[in-house]
Amino acid sequence: MRLLICLVCSITILGAQTVQDCKKRFDSYLNFKGSLNNLVRFDKESITIYNSKGQKEFTAYQKEIPMLAEVFENYDTKTATKFYKNKSSKKLSKQQRDSIRIYLDVPKGNREKIEALPLNGIKVAIDAGHLASSFTEAMNEQKFLYFLRDSLKSTLDTVKIYEADLTYKTSLILKEMLEGKGANVFLTRPTQSLSTFGCSYSYWFANYKKKVLDSLLQINKLEASEYRKLNNLPEYNFFWDFFRDYELSNRARLINNFKPDVTTIIHYNVDEKNVPWKKTSHNDFTMAFIGGSFTADRLDNIESKLNFLRLLFGEQIDKSEKLSHITVHQFSENLKIPIACTDDADYLKNNCICSKNHGVFSRQLILCNKINSPLVYGENLYQDNIDECKWLMNNTTTAYGIKTNDRVVKVAKSYYNSILIYFTK
Ligand SMILES: [Zn+2]
Repeated sequence: MRLLICLVCSITILGAQTVQDCKKRFDSYLNFKGSLNNLVRFDKESITIYNSKGQKEFTAYQKEIPMLAEVFENYDTKTATKFYKNKSSKKLSKQQRDSIRIYLDVPKGNREKIEALPLNGIKVAIDAGHLASSFTEAMNEQKFLYFLRDSLKSTLDTVKIYEADLTYKTSLILKEMLEGKGANVFLTRPTQSLSTFGCSYSYWFANYKKKVLDSLLQINKLEASEYRKLNNLPEYNFFWDFFRDYELSNRARLINNFKPDVTTIIHYNVDEKNVPWKKTSHNDFTMAFIGGSFTADRLDNIESKLNFLRLLFGEQIDKSEKLSHITVHQFSENLKIPIACTDDADYLKNNCICSKNHGVFSRQLILCNKINSPLVYGENLYQDNIDECKWLMNNTTTAYGIKTNDRVVKVAKSYYNSILIYFTK
């Protein structure tokens, strides 16, 4: 009996994944309201993926699962697609499984431990949400708050803040904090005035729009009718119908090229019940998103299917939940605001799967599902809260040479503490 217990312990420590582990993950994070019930089926010893016509496409057998986790975390899209089609439902021998693992370039994860630099060797990607570099750009991006003093009927001054500025400053401070402990940090937005394509959106629209649409048409990623429609859209509409998601995918691509150990995605929220945000709100909640919540239509697309398989076979989503859980508690403690429950916002109730950890939700967001690392997508506070908007307007605190306010510093500190706790405790 004692031997058996030891054996079970060692399997858990090694993190050997079983069909049951995958099933648990599927139920807890991936299968949005049963949407994938006809596309993914679990047996005692295998998992089978079906296409939308009900035809069997791929089967993963128990002994293949650790190898499949490595394959979908380390192959690029083209190689993974080829592997998915070639393997199909064939059962691989031990020799075949071993040889696939030998040729995979899996990072070793051995790092030198230095007491003063507890994050030595850790790679952290930071995405500062949105891209406006001025208030006018933020108005086009629809991520701003502008409360006129009169409309507030209070002693509050006019409020004028935009989210991309708050996230950008948070990312710079967080970068300094993490580097101080030895981490290797990558920013998707190293310069405030540039999008992740290295230029402003207006410049991109004028100079690259046509080239990008042409190439997408050529590789059949755009239909001719869609191409014509997009090509004729004015700058503002094109941003919403194409550029916003296209730029988010570019962020995920840059982050994945960096091969981070963890990724932090920084956002500042608003109270959805306060739409159209012309006045302040008394609500203030903190929350975080992780990947998952797949719907059947997403699995029709091969890239999305590969992201699903990576999250199904590997442990990234469990790790994201762990990191996000720590982060949400840090937000709540440092900012003194409550953690959101499912009933606190319609998008939490209608678009997310609530995880077992308070304040952490699986949501089908582009970055959450495309980024190939454990991650936290933080929505730390409500900018339109009556006190927050006042505090966020302040520019009286300087941290690492960046002029900002106490709330931004506390948000950065919360992310920093979470990463430190995640890697060291
Ligand atoms: Zn945002």
